[in-house]
Amino acid sequence: MTTAQPLDVQPSPLALLLLGREADPRSERGVECPGDLPAPSDPDLVERARAAKARLGDKVFVLGHHYQRDEVIEFADVTGDSFKLARDAAARPGAEYIVFCGVHFMAESADILTGDDQQVVLPDLAAGCSMADMATAEQVAECWDVLTDAGVAGTTVPVSYMNSSADIKAFTGKHGGTICTSSNAERALKWAFAQGEKVLFLPDQHLGRNTAVRDLGLSLDDCVLYNPHKPGGGLTADELRAAKVILWRGHCSVHGRFSLESVRDVRERIPGVNVLVHPECRHEVVAAADLVGSTEYIIKTLEAAPAGSKWAIGTELNLVRRLANRFADEAAGNKEIVFLDKTVCFCSTMNRIDLPHLVWALESLADGKVVNRIEVDPEVAAFSKLALERMLALP
Ligand code: SF4
Repeated sequence: MTTAQPLDVQPSPLALLLLGREADPRSERGVECPGDLPAPSDPDLVERARAAKARLGDKVFVLGHHYQRDEVIEFADVTGDSFKLARDAAARPGAEYIVFCGVHFMAESADILTGDDQQVVLPDLAAGCSMADMATAEQVAECWDVLTDAGVAGTTVPVSYMNSSADIKAFTGKHGGTICTSSNAERALKWAFAQGEKVLFLPDQHLGRNTAVRDLGLSLDDCVLYNPHKPGGGLTADELRAAKVILWRGHCSVHGRFSLESVRDVRERIPGVNVLVHPECRHEVVAAADLVGSTEYIIKTLEAAPAGSKWAIGTELNLVRRLANRFADEAAGNKEIVFLDKTVCFCSTMNRIDLPHLVWALESLADGKVVNRIEVDPEVAAFSKLALERMLALP
């Protein structure tokens, strides 16, 4: 008879917070959103959003991440991925208010990259990112101590995905590392290996592993997984010394759910389908896909795809649905675009931003009241900016 093995993962206290309830300002989610919101059933919401935006004029600049709902995207001045949006915001110094329709870490990056006189607003403070929450400043500091004890911190360069809190970006800047996006992760890793012998990749293990193995030609055995819930990350000093890439045990709760099964199933259901997935997907999914790339790459690939081609897309559902509608008719090429999985749902935190929250934020600003301002501590912002600037200077 076998005995039950003890659970090796300590539950995070964050797991107990209900989305949008209770208060934990240091969390990317589970934060209360105060405010007297209009009812979702209010038939005048669209008109109210238009009117408030018109009252604000050039004073406001609304950014819409690709994963946002259609009702929100309709009011975005620009759409894009997180880094493009932060750069777009920085290129609009005349806009007093930046309304970021996305999640918390994106609004932080916009605050870091925009001027001191610009104020960044997140329409719902509960719009966080579960991946960003998987690496806290304390956990990462502890990890660095573990690397120091193993004698490898001096030769390790941190590379942090854009999808991380400002605290983690600041840690990265302070320790000689860079930020990366899903578009430039390969360049970031190559740069890091030119600076040191190892990379600590935070917080998305899948993007780190996929980039190391697919793009840099490293083996899976060159990568180890650091589990912040285990003493010493669950790794021995010898394992840390032998590794080339130390992956943080974080993942995206949306992309992490696509499976090899979903790829096999869609190939059976739709003969001739092209499978195109985001690199936040698990390694076996990425290995089984035809094409892999960021949201911007996914959009460009579909724009350039031949008429009548068939596509199964592994990324957030709001974007896939919008693309499916955009290319559905004859004039747009009659491209058949389906969601890779039957069961994966929307990103729940991205979906926190809805029309009532947007109307509330815009009307408050039009009345001269700044709500849900996202402001990064100046020291954290300075070190984060250093890491972001290293990314901008990547060869
Ligand atoms: S899609 Fe994933 S990475 Fe993006 S905000 Fe949602 S949980 Fe975070």
